[in-house]
Amino acid sequence: MRFEGKSALITGGGRGIGATTALMMLAEGGKVGVVDLNPDHLAKAAETARSRGYALKTFQADVSKTDQVRRTVDGFVEEFGRIDILVNNAGMTIPRPFMEKTAEDWVKTLEVNLISVFLCAQAAAKHMLARQSGKIVNISSIRGIEHCGREGVMEYSAAKAAVINLTKTMAKELAPHINVNTVAPGHTMTDLTAPLPDAVKKGMIEGAYLKRMAQPEDIAKAILFLASDDANFITGQMLLVDGGFSLKAG
Ligand code: NAD
Repeated sequence: MRFEGKSALITGGGRGIGATTALMMLAEGGKVGVVDLNPDHLAKAAETARSRGYALKTFQADVSKTDQVRRTVDGFVEEFGRIDILVNNAGMTIPRPFMEKTAEDWVKTLEVNLISVFLCAQAAAKHMLARQSGKIVNISSIRGIEHCGREGVMEYSAAKAAVINLTKTMAKELAPHINVNTVAPGHTMTDLTAPLPDAVKKGMIEGAYLKRMAQPEDIAKAILFLASDDANFITGQMLLVDGGFSLKAG
């Protein structure tokens, strides 16, 4: 019960890794809110939580928009009285070959995967700094690691690499009372990866030394660790949860 007495807000928490993280924090006694762009994802996540006997608070917002982020974080604090944990998990890709990429693809992808991390962290840090306590966990990707950028989603890879760097800067600026860390998931079975062709998934499985894709729970366990008191002396770090996929470069 590591999250008893703690309140956590998870972005992109309507499905996938974010929704699984929310359920696992609820199961460990946390008070949890999720923010998501998609109302259907939110309704499903709330229903799943209810069916397991938990109350999940939902907020519908686009986390790349300053006013919507402020409204959400302030609404969350009004509801729960404080914000102890922020998980910046919302993300998306626009897969398209290099020669078809547009500046709009870049702007949208950077806004959702990178700038949202700054916006949500700034809005949450206002409350965390006042209480001199808080944990922020940013979600990057195996694609943000050196040598692992992926064809067709180069702007996503660039955004996720920037999240690792941004985490280190935020860790310095928000110290000593707020810990900021990154979890970089490897290939994970969610609705984001479900549409990929079987041959691509096969490559992801064979490329990982542990010979499988991650389940959302594999990633959520790392997020929970960095969001918990178990990680009180860890800040500015990146925890790569990729089944050894990145080892193949060596
Ligand atoms: P997912 O698509 O299943 O869930 C992402 C959620 O974010 C969705 O519910 C979506 O509606 C929401 N979202 C998207 N844009 C938003 C916005 N602007 N505002 C608010 N909500 C928004 O994805 P997932 O696989 O669970 O991935 C979660 C995170 O993990 C993402 O940051 C992703 O880049 C990262 N990641 C995933 C994988 C993987 O293999 N699945 C690998 C590495 C990193």
